[in-house]
Amino acid sequence: MARIELKNIVKKYGDGFPAVNDVSLDIADGEFVILVGPSGCGKSTLLRMIVGLEDITEGDLLIDGKRVNDLAPRDRDLAMVFQNYALYPHLTVGENIAFPLRLGHSKVDEKEIKARVQRAADMLELNEHLSRKPANLSGGQRQRVAMGRAIVRDAKAFLFDEPLSNLDAKLRGQMRTEIARMQRSLATTTVYVTHDQTEAMTLGDRVAVLRKGSLQQVASPRELYEQPVNLFVAGFIGSPPMNFLPARVAGDRLQLPFCEVPAPPVVRDGGHDGKLLIVGIRPEHFDDAEVTDQPEGAATFEADVDVTEWLGNELYAYLPFEAEEETKAQLAELDRELDGESMRSQLVVTLDAMSGVRDGDRA
Ligand code: ATP
Repeated sequence: MARIELKNIVKKYGDGFPAVNDVSLDIADGEFVILVGPSGCGKSTLLRMIVGLEDITEGDLLIDGKRVNDLAPRDRDLAMVFQNYALYPHLTVGENIAFPLRLGHSKVDEKEIKARVQRAADMLELNEHLSRKPANLSGGQRQRVAMGRAIVRDAKAFLFDEPLSNLDAKLRGQMRTEIARMQRSLATTTVYVTHDQTEAMTLGDRVAVLRKGSLQQVASPRELYEQPVNLFVAGFIGSPPMNFLPARVAGDRLQLPFCEVPAPPVVRDGGHDGKLLIVGIRPEHFDDAEVTDQPEGAATFEADVDVTEWLGNELYAYLPFEAEEETKAQLAELDRELDGESMRSQLVVTLDAMSGVRDGDRA
């Protein structure tokens, strides 16, 4: 059992400004929870308070129902994996993995140590490297050793602090899958910090989005994507990000900068008539009118396509509407030329429950 409960947790450093502000989060036994947010939002501080490397200024931290605010890190029985791996350069891979089991307070005998190191090495495909030193390993292998050291301990929970940020994109993808597999097979409670929304969306049972020390939303990846609670979450989750456009409600219609669409139910029934709203439209909710059937609730409009980007499996068109940022539309691959000098093109936009609509909530 390892349930981790954060109750109204506050962290103030010397300047008195809360780096973490009244965060409450209940992490179930075996759950994989991601803490995500931009740089400086307090996610590492939160993780470091859970593991005991940072004092908690206010609030309660409970592990399996027991308050552990004042418990020393080693007595919390949590295994942390750091971004920089934190391996001992003079020890071999095998010795690095075994290290936590040989610490003074650990009561594991040598036979058991050997068996556990072997099990971790099997799981992480490190068998061939057990007698090598960390300096002779690739970044991905080092990260695996760091994970091995967490696994052998049979800790109550794993805490990961941006474990993949030193790896190149391809390796990051591979290691992401390995972490997901490892967590699933061990079913150990895991808290994982990242600023990468792809990691957040692919790894977590639930994702906690932080901004300036405050929790914005805690939900499954799908719910975050489909029902973001505010513009910050809507803009942070999704790549490329959601477009934000001003829109006026006119009865059961919504006037966008480029066309009118039927107002989605959330707007129509929300008493917003006459109001100016910010409407979020994900890039994939645009389409090329010539190659797509017009879905229900959609509207067709003409747009100047500024630039197109073709990425092999995706095509993006930039639409220069009057918005703070350029509007990006993801289109099915075109069998006609769209790029070049401001070509006018017929596009379709769909507004449905999947694109967020909010009133007066500016990120
Ligand atoms: P990053 O992704 O850049 O690591 P983060 O979301 O993990 O960012 P934290 O490192 O938790 O953010 O920092 C949260 C806030 O607390 C920041 O404003 C940071 O400057 C501040 N902070 C962090 N550590 C300390 C410290 N030891 N002393 C004073 N302020 C700190």
